[in-house]
Amino acid sequence: MDLLKQKIVKEGKVLSESVLKVDSFLNHQIDPELMEEIGREFTERFKNAGITKILTLESSGIAPSVMAGLRLGVPVIFARKRKSLTLIDHLYSAKVYSYTKKETNEISVSKDYISNDDIVLIIDDFLANGQAVDGLIGIVNQSGASLAGVGIVIEKGFQDGGSIVRKRGIRVESLANITSLADGKVTFNEEDSS
Ligand code: 5GP
Repeated sequence: MDLLKQKIVKEGKVLSESVLKVDSFLNHQIDPELMEEIGREFTERFKNAGITKILTLESSGIAPSVMAGLRLGVPVIFARKRKSLTLIDHLYSAKVYSYTKKETNEISVSKDYISNDDIVLIIDDFLANGQAVDGLIGIVNQSGASLAGVGIVIEKGFQDGGSIVRKRGIRVESLANITSLADGKVTFNEEDSS
C-alpha cells in the first residue's frame, strides 16, 4: 500500500535493526485519513471472506480495525491486556510475550462477543515474532469460530512471525512488508504487490 509505505519512509524512526517507531501516525498520534485508507484496503482484500467479526489487541490495533469494521459492516472486539473490574470471568484468554516490552500479558476477550458461528478477521498493527497474533488465534480457536485470516498494517518480514503463521495455512495480508531496518533505513519487500 503505497500511501502507507510513503508515510513510513517520511515519518518512521528506525530505533534499532529490529524496531521501527511510528508514533506519529499509528502508535500514539493517529492519522485518521491514513486509517481510513487502511480500512479500505483490508476491506478490499477480505470482502469475500464472509467476515462477521474483527478481533484485535488494544490499543494500537483498534484504529485500523474500526475503519475496516466500518467498511465491512461488522463489530470490532479488542482483546484486553489487563483484567478489568468488569471483565473477570466468562473469558477466552491467552498468554502473549512481548519482545519489545519484555513482559508477558494475559490477553482476554469476553465469551459474549465471539461464538462458534462467527467468521473472524484478526487485525494488528505489527507482525514481528508472531506472539500477539498467536494469542489472538488461540482466542478464536477457543471460541470455535472460523478464522478468515490475519490483516497486518506493518509486517517485519525479517522476523519469524509471518512465516510461522503462513505455514499453519493461515492467510496473512500485510499492507507494508519490511525486509530490513539495517543502517537506519527502511527497506520494503519489492515483490509485495501491496
Ligand atoms: P509480535 O508479537 O509479532 O512479536 O509483535 C507484535 C506486537 O509487538 C505488535 O502488537 C506491536 O505492538 C509490537 N511491535 C513489534 N515490533 C514492533 C516495532 O518494530 N515497532 C512497534 N512500534 N511495535 C512493534
